[in-house]
Amino acid sequence: MRLQIGAALAIMVGLAVASTSAQQGADTIDAHLAAAKAAAGFDFTGTLARICIAPQTAPGADVRPPPPPDRATWFTEPAKVFDNLYFVGTKIHSSWAMTTSEGIILIDTLYDYASEEAIVGGLRKLGLDPAAVKYVIISHAHGDHVGGAKLMQDRFGARIVMGAPDWDSIEKSVNQYPNGKPKRDISATDGQKVALGDGAVMLALTPGHTPGTVSMFFQVKDNGQPLTVAYSGGTAFNFVNDVPHFDTYIASQRKMAERAGSQNATILMSNHSEFDNAVTKIKLLAARKAGEPHPFELGREAVQRYFKVMDECAQMARLKLL
Ligand SMILES: [Zn+2]
Repeated sequence: MRLQIGAALAIMVGLAVASTSAQQGADTIDAHLAAAKAAAGFDFTGTLARICIAPQTAPGADVRPPPPPDRATWFTEPAKVFDNLYFVGTKIHSSWAMTTSEGIILIDTLYDYASEEAIVGGLRKLGLDPAAVKYVIISHAHGDHVGGAKLMQDRFGARIVMGAPDWDSIEKSVNQYPNGKPKRDISATDGQKVALGDGAVMLALTPGHTPGTVSMFFQVKDNGQPLTVAYSGGTAFNFVNDVPHFDTYIASQRKMAERAGSQNATILMSNHSEFDNAVTKIKLLAARKAGEPHPFELGREAVQRYFKVMDECAQMARLKLL
């Protein structure tokens, strides 16, 4: 009887796998949307909405940034999130400080207008010294992530790491940097390890959102327990919407899914709270009870589903072009 149940289960599992692969195999707009929705579940609704439901379809113009919005629309308190990782972002955009035995690695720098208070002020509020920031890694050169790079470079002498094509785009821009541009520094390479003391961030070049988009893998510690973060460097479709651009974007998501799997990443982070719910999770963290899982720890399978959402939405957008 036990054997029969085992056999029945095997058949059921087999059928489930077959129906999943049939669904994945259907190369239609509806099938990709259904697959993206299934992958998103309730975890990644922001990403699903942004790139599957109401995607952008063209790049922004090289124009001067609008005046800063009211502080109340973006300000949020900084927070310690892991033993070695601190949030110094805004309600909308993320900036993360990884502490190491030799100083700080900062990931992303928000808009120009928020960087002084959220990053410099946020680090100080948390008892960290902004002058200890040795490396700043920029996921991509859009104003909402590269805005504070010049400040960190000029005032604290931090080294700035960015994808080479995004350094090029900063140099080419005529209007987007009215307060000055960061000086060209380190060009990120695929697999590069940005190491500082006992900490390190592994870079993955993931062109698509911009030609120089950099994603990352790094280890955090939750009460001493090491966990691996996959950091997705670029998401929305505000690039030239043609088949080669989407092919590049899709290949990058598959690279991330593969590396996240091989490194056993169980945490997914992005540079917008819209995509990883960082600000909401930080609120949940404050109410975490002993023994409960960390709100950022989604598990390996969920991290895979995140890159599946990006892959399927991009396939859908690509199909619409044909
Ligand atoms: Zn962007």
